[in-house]
This record gives sequence, structure tokens and C-alpha cells, in this order.
Amino acid sequence: MNLIFLGPPGAGKGTQAKALEERFGYRQISTGDILRANVREGSPLGVEAKDYMDRGALVPDELIIRMMEPVLDEPGDVILDGFPRTVAQAEALDDLLRRKNKPAIAVLFDVDKAALTDRLTGRWTHSASGRTYHVRHNPPQTAGVDDVTGEPLIQRPDDQEETIRTRLAVYEDQTSPLIAYYAHPANHRLARVDALAPIDAVTAQLTKLVTGGFGKDGAA
Ligand code: ADP
Ligand code: AMP
Repeated sequence: MNLIFLGPPGAGKGTQAKALEERFGYRQISTGDILRANVREGSPLGVEAKDYMDRGALVPDELIIRMMEPVLDEPGDVILDGFPRTVAQAEALDDLLRRKNKPAIAVLFDVDKAALTDRLTGRWTHSASGRTYHVRHNPPQTAGVDDVTGEPLIQRPDDQEETIRTRLAVYEDQTSPLIAYYAHPANHRLARVDALAPIDAVTAQLTKLVTGGFGKDGAA
């Protein structure tokens, strides 16, 4: 079953996508990571996306939808991390998943807003892999260094307080309507996890969901 991770910036989507990738062989598709790689390479998409990302705004739907189509062609179950972020993207995704015959369930990361700024200002990222750490909640073995590659970690430029405020407001305005969208029983399934719990406890909830065949009520 393909998974759509839904939740605000800092909810722990990337952290859990990496854990499930390792445990169950899912393929994480992080639109943020793909966009940042494009910015680093200076590709036409990266050049167009950079200004939106620096401001904490969303990159226009048509660019994102075009970017996602070929990515979903590859075989294997995926975790969509950071996509969709608008109702227009969710409708396009429904269409893509239908055409490619891939069923999916949305998983909402339930989290208190008050926790998010601390999580994002304390986040350290390994650019090449998208692996993240937290100065207190999930520190690397050596400060400032990725555990796996030994390469330096960076703080994302959009993880500073002013941009975080914009990103959280954008989430409320443009992405949170997706909770009602996926909760609508006609075509969709929505599960929830308590994302305020410690990292391992959230992984345990998701493991239960994945191995439990996605119980009919959708609860983890
Ligand atoms: P998202 O992908 O949803 O933006 P991340 O997975 O990058 O969020 O997590 C944001 C920050 O919070 C990271 O520094 C990460 O180490 C930390 N973090 C993730 N999950 C938890 C958790 N359950 N408890 C405490 N900190 C967490
Ligand atoms: P993330 O890594 O998910 O926090 O995303 C970082 C930034 O990339 C966002 O603030 C947006 O500017 C952009 N972005 C990522 N995913 C999307 C998306 N699905 N739609 C629009 N913009 C996106």
C-alpha cells in the first residue's frame, strides 16, 4: 500500500519515511528533497523554485505535478512526503494514482503546533540524503556530522524562525484542507498517528499500521 504522509513542517514525516524505508523497503519521495537537489544543480526547475522556497511559499502546482508524474512511474510502494500540499495537487495525485493503478492511504501526523518551531530550529540536515537530526531529540553521534557518510550537516535556510512562521501559515491555509479531503470516505482513507510522541514510538505506531493491514477504521 502506498502512503501519503500529511502534516505540517516539522511533524516528523521525513524522519519516519526514512525509518519505514529501512524497515519495509518503501521508497521515500520527498518533494522538498527533489526540489532542493534541483536548486543545488541549478536546473531550470530549481531556478524557478528557489525564490518560492526561500520565502517559505509553495512552488506553483503545475511545476510540482509535472515533476511528480515520472517519479510515480517507477515500481515499488512509495511514501509521498510533502506532496500533495494543495487540493489541486491532491486531485492531480488521485488521477495519477488511478491511471497507474496504485492504491494509497493518507496518514496524518497529529502534532501540537507549539512543538514545531523547536523541532525546525533544532533540525540539522544531510543534504545529499535528506537525513535529518535534532540537536536534542535526535542528535548525530558527532555534532554537525552525518552518522552514515561522515559528511557535514547543514541548517536549512528556511529553518529560521521568520520563514518557519510563513511555512506554518501556508500549511494552515493551503495544506490543512487536505485533512477533510482525505477524511471523506467516498474515495479516500485517512489514518492518524500521534506525532508528538518520541521518534521510536511514532515508528511503532506506523509499523502497527503497515503490518496490521490498515484496519478498517484507519486508526493506527
Ligand atoms: P518533516 O519532514 O515533517 O518536516 P522532520 O522529520 O524533518 O519533519 O523532523 C523535524 C525535526 O524534528 C527533525 O530535527 C527531527 O529530528 C525532529 N523530530 C522528528 N520526529 C520527532 C519526534 N517524534 N519527537 C521529537 N523530535 C522529532
Ligand atoms: P519540505 O522539505 O517538505 O519542508 O519543503 C520545502 C519547501 O519546498 C516548501 O516550503 C516549498 O517551498 C517547497 N515544496 C515542497 N513540496 C512542495 C509541494 N508539494 N508543493 C509546493 N511546494 C513544495
